[in-house]
Amino acid sequence: MARKPEIIREHNLHHSFCGLVSVGWLYQKIKDSFFLILGTHTCAHLLQNTLGVMIFARPRFAVALMEEADLSSAQPALEAQIEAIRREHHPSVIFLLSSCTPEVIKVEFEGLAQSLSRPDLPVLFVPASGLDYTFSQAEDSVLQALLPLCPVSERDTPEIVFLGSVNDTIADDFAHEAACLGLPVAGFLPSNHMRDLPAIGPNTIIAPLHPYLARVANLLQQERGATVLSSLFPLGPDGTRMFWEDLARAFGQTIDLADREAAAWERLKTHTSLLKGKRIFLASDTLMEIPLARFLQACGCEIVECSTPYVNRRFHAHELSRLEEVRLVEQPDLHHQLERIDEIKPDLVIANIMSTNPLIGHGVLAKWSMEVAFMPIHGWAGSHTLISMFTLPMQRHAQLNARGTTVMDPLWTTGLMPSQQEHSA
Ligand code: SF4
Repeated sequence: MARKPEIIREHNLHHSFCGLVSVGWLYQKIKDSFFLILGTHTCAHLLQNTLGVMIFARPRFAVALMEEADLSSAQPALEAQIEAIRREHHPSVIFLLSSCTPEVIKVEFEGLAQSLSRPDLPVLFVPASGLDYTFSQAEDSVLQALLPLCPVSERDTPEIVFLGSVNDTIADDFAHEAACLGLPVAGFLPSNHMRDLPAIGPNTIIAPLHPYLARVANLLQQERGATVLSSLFPLGPDGTRMFWEDLARAFGQTIDLADREAAAWERLKTHTSLLKGKRIFLASDTLMEIPLARFLQACGCEIVECSTPYVNRRFHAHELSRLEEVRLVEQPDLHHQLERIDEIKPDLVIANIMSTNPLIGHGVLAKWSMEVAFMPIHGWAGSHTLISMFTLPMQRHAQLNARGTTVMDPLWTTGLMPSQQEHSA
């Protein structure tokens, strides 16, 4: 394996969006779940604003509003709320997510969750405060909470559990691909329904789909004796090829997907020709920065900096080996990072939600990173969506320049708004 790059640590804090946001994709993934957040008005506003759920959509998540004074006597109120959730939504599981206030004053909600649990309706405690976790890591906390409910596998031949929440199209693509390669699959963690949680044991090969699930992967190894696949994450044609080749190797098969990878790149060539030679600065907080930098580098980009909240040297080992020449910064100092952006003047900055619009306001072409976490970007099927996330803002920026538009509309440049042409079509 190639030499690992030097990682610069600038800070001992992380600037990241709140972990509660992961509820946005997890409640949709686990279709018989309910997420109850023990939070304040701030948490309620955050969820309403970021997830933008209409009241009539009856979302399967809610915030139990708590002030400090409520926390010592939370049990009776929560019992009533859980009863109401059971009557109205008939969930198979309730996740009880803690937020900053209970964590700061050290309220112990784990025992409370256990006392609220019933055999037919488990209530699982999930630490998810924005103080400790990046928003994508809260998925890790949810999966750790689910682990005790996964049956113990006693199989004596290996089978795969794909680790990480992906939508049905991507899950079907992975299941189909595994079937074509003759690789047995036990299921996905998380599954769409609680009844389908996969059995996990010493003969399970855990295939991580996301780079932010290091803690649950470690737990699966320690508690169930499972083997965690060490490879690239299946993002982009290069990552997807290595992922499947390494996974097949874990079953004693040697396969060569070079033609498949070449065909996938060929389909993306209008995008790669746009990206070739572009100088990209990753300044975001999703924990997907390292594999995204590796993918963008394979697209022909120059990665002028890759900043990320945490680097796990073991879980990210293969990804790191591809970034030997890249400046890698863990827990960047925001002020210094903005100075570097100003100095380097990259062609595109992948930024977090806090800095994207200010950067755009200063004339920097910036892309909001969080979208990546919500989009189906994995495997062969997701490669087009993945690369479009980077080329779309560039194309729209070029269109605006061609029209002589000097005022940049942040929503256009982040790719959230249709262009004028699409608008009038
Ligand atoms: Fe609530 Fe803390 Fe998240 Fe803010 S950072 S929304 S207070 S959990």
